[in-house]
Amino acid sequence: MSVQNITVIGSGTMGHGIAHVAATGGYNVVLNDVSEALLKKNFDNIKRNLAKGVALKKLSQEKYEAAVSRIRLCVNLQEAVTGSDFVIEAIPEKMALKIELIANIRNHLQTHAVLASNTSGLSITEMAAASNRPQNFIGMHFFNPVHKMKLIEIIRGLETSDETFALTAEVSTKMGKEVVAVNESPGFVTSRINAMIGNEAFFMLQEGVATAEDIDKALKFGLNHPMGPFEMIDLVGLDTRLSILKHLHSTLGEKYRPCPLIEKYVKAGRLGKKVGKGVYTYNQTREQD
Ligand code: NAD
Repeated sequence: MSVQNITVIGSGTMGHGIAHVAATGGYNVVLNDVSEALLKKNFDNIKRNLAKGVALKKLSQEKYEAAVSRIRLCVNLQEAVTGSDFVIEAIPEKMALKIELIANIRNHLQTHAVLASNTSGLSITEMAAASNRPQNFIGMHFFNPVHKMKLIEIIRGLETSDETFALTAEVSTKMGKEVVAVNESPGFVTSRINAMIGNEAFFMLQEGVATAEDIDKALKFGLNHPMGPFEMIDLVGLDTRLSILKHLHSTLGEKYRPCPLIEKYVKAGRLGKKVGKGVYTYNQTREQD
């Protein structure tokens, strides 16, 4: 089966980036969200990011126009998945929402269509069971910002077929990404390690081992991490990181117990760059992206 039509459900932080790389990969893309206004705003983000690529000479004007013309916005969910070969969901990280979405689309999918979730760590097997087509269900974990980050973790659920895995790897490669194969496990590879490093950094901050700036500097210049753990958590969102830690704690045990200081920051509304304040405060002197 050759994939030509990709549907992306959810056009937020991740969804608009996924639509971007699908379109530059040569696919026809249908982008869905809950309102026309959100779709329009997020399509503008895609065009802005593509235009930056042209300005930096990473993309020709021709390719910019071809990519933009391949993206169609569609607010009707069932219509958005009809005729699609490959559907990627990027709606918020709540199992109940994802299961409800899957139930709403499963009877409208073509028999051969693959359904992929961009979850950061929820169970692919549980979503696959709800889809009634577990062999065609897979995890496709993109990274933020999608058009810049090279990796996709491909996660097999219990019954994901080899054909579905191979097709997902092929689509990922056409999107210009590197892939790693992961068997389902909470937090996969990256979210599990990242959550652990960030949590440890928060314990150090709480204990007064060093300032946030010096912990970030130590990891960047001493351990060659491209970003410090607090810069990273401000990018991901402290609420998102806390929910990942809670999930890891409940599934993998005590060593993932969230540091009380993260909980305190979240209660204070310090959720990261998206609200202008997390571990750091963002203003004109600190870049937003
Ligand atoms: P987001 O809140 O930025 O975007 C979610 C979008 O989904 C919103 O535009 C919302 O309107 C839309 N939406 C909600 N319910 C919908 C529905 N029923 N149908 C259609 N659209 C719907 O969230 P995000 O950060 O893009 O995260 C999306 C998924 O990607 C989550 O599972 C998250 O864990 C995962 N993820 C996030 C990151 C990250 O850094 N933000 C990284 C990797 C994976």
